[in-house]
Amino acid sequence: MPERPVTKPFQADSQFVNQVEPSPNFGERRQVKSPDLIILHYTGMKSGEAALTRLCCGEAEVSSHYLIGEDGEIIQLVAEGKRAWHAGISCWKGIKDINSHSIGIEIVNRGHEYGYADFPDEQMESVVQLLGDIVARYRIKSADILAHSDIAPLRKQDPGELFDWHYLYKAGLGIWVEPAPIRPGDSLGIGQQGDSVLNYQLALQKIGFEIVPSGKFDELTVACTTAFQRHFRQEKVDGIADISTVETLNKLLEKVC
Ligand SMILES: [Zn+2]
Repeated sequence: MPERPVTKPFQADSQFVNQVEPSPNFGERRQVKSPDLIILHYTGMKSGEAALTRLCCGEAEVSSHYLIGEDGEIIQLVAEGKRAWHAGISCWKGIKDINSHSIGIEIVNRGHEYGYADFPDEQMESVVQLLGDIVARYRIKSADILAHSDIAPLRKQDPGELFDWHYLYKAGLGIWVEPAPIRPGDSLGIGQQGDSVLNYQLALQKIGFEIVPSGKFDELTVACTTAFQRHFRQEKVDGIADISTVETLNKLLEKVC
């Protein structure tokens, strides 16, 4: 049996926390003194209560630092200094131990499986308040506020294309560019090969996606394209690198690199 830390009460790290509900599912950060990434999730369960129960259940072996309810209530589950278990197998800019590097925030939403819906205004306001506070305390870079789907594109789709990244951006959080308009024209998709595919893959890699720049539009490229669209070109999420997707990616690269 792996040794589990004892669940004990702790002081909330943020003034915006409404409640502390200690989860036993955490460990020590490995070779990282303080977090430098923030990962946003949706809970993908039928209710917020069900999500809270799971995140605090020792046997589930999952957790996050925060859980934000649909009504905007912020519950802290794991102290920020500790390593919560929210990212799973994932990678960003070559970093594989995302849990050691990050703060994980679960946002209550039924998700694609149980009836995906808009994130209510009260909830988004709390996301902004909490993020603003964390970013200020650790000086986390705008480009390092990420979706779970960004860091695990083959496995995850949260928080998904209904999450309002533009709203965060207007509040000074995260990165965003106006998506290029969707229109007819050449596109890259599964099975295609060549320099244009290679250049596209290199651009995704430069943003931070874990992709193998092979010049072949493979399943991983589809998954990274889908993840990119869920975050940056939300109007159409289909895994095809159409003109709009490629242009939006290039605009983003110009902005952040
Ligand atoms: Zn997630």
